[in-house]
Amino acid sequence: MDLEKLIREVAEEINKNKEVVAFTGAGISVESGIPAFRGSQGLWEKYDPEEYAYISVFLRNPAKVWKMLRDMFSIALQAKPNTAHLVLAEMEKKGYLKAIITQNVDGLHQEAGSQKVIELHGNGRFLVCLSCHNRVPFLREHLEIEPYPVCQTCQKALKPDVVFFGEPLPEEALNSAYALAKSCKIFLIVGTSGVVYPAAQIPYYAKSKGATIVEVNLWESSYTYKLTDFFLKGKAGEIFDKLSKYLF
Ligand code: NAD
Repeated sequence: MDLEKLIREVAEEINKNKEVVAFTGAGISVESGIPAFRGSQGLWEKYDPEEYAYISVFLRNPAKVWKMLRDMFSIALQAKPNTAHLVLAEMEKKGYLKAIITQNVDGLHQEAGSQKVIELHGNGRFLVCLSCHNRVPFLREHLEIEPYPVCQTCQKALKPDVVFFGEPLPEEALNSAYALAKSCKIFLIVGTSGVVYPAAQIPYYAKSKGATIVEVNLWESSYTYKLTDFFLKGKAGEIFDKLSKYLF
């Protein structure tokens, strides 16, 4: 079926049900200039996650990990929401969308105006002290501090308030995500490869509870042949632009 027809069908489904939950990953922010982790432009091409992204490495050698963080956040802190973020925010405002469950840490859903955002992997717009738990906004000035920014109270290394490999996901966010996946009629997966667990499990749960799975991705993901009912192949910004014309 051609893409335009598929998008129109999805818009009709959304109009009928109005019980949509979105599940977003790095792909939705690529058009905002933030590279995904996987793929040729991905951060993992440059930094081996085994070497840089584990909490044990950060605790042992924060200066090393801050090299990667500086690279990553110098882009992420100045990024702006794109059409996909903005249309999702509009869908919530107009009563189509119940919430967004995001694996992203860039804060772009909130900046686009979304109110109900469940952050599974934290929020990189803040820095946290692992010693005294002080939490401060992550400012561009922090990127200039060598070898890394420290807590003003206890002088320990600050860490972006995001979940590193080896750290548990915030329990409250995970519980909310499962409750939403259980109760929605349409589960809208956007720009995720579906390989980062435990978050990647949530779409399977939504499907098992009867949700229709709509997926937006530039390429087939680990969900496409197993779960997806409607696959909208393309850039998230372009697909949401078209979808919005049928919805609003
Ligand atoms: P991923 O890097 O594993 O996969 C990205 C997916 O997005 C791929 O399936 C790719 O085909 C798709 N994609 C790329 N460009 C797209 C576009 N323009 N439109 C639609 N789809 C597009 O990302 P992931 O599955 O989210 O897992 C990586 C983890 O890394 C996440 O859990 C997240 O916490 C973190 N991460 C976050 C950011 C961010 O906050 N923006 C960026 C990179 C990584």
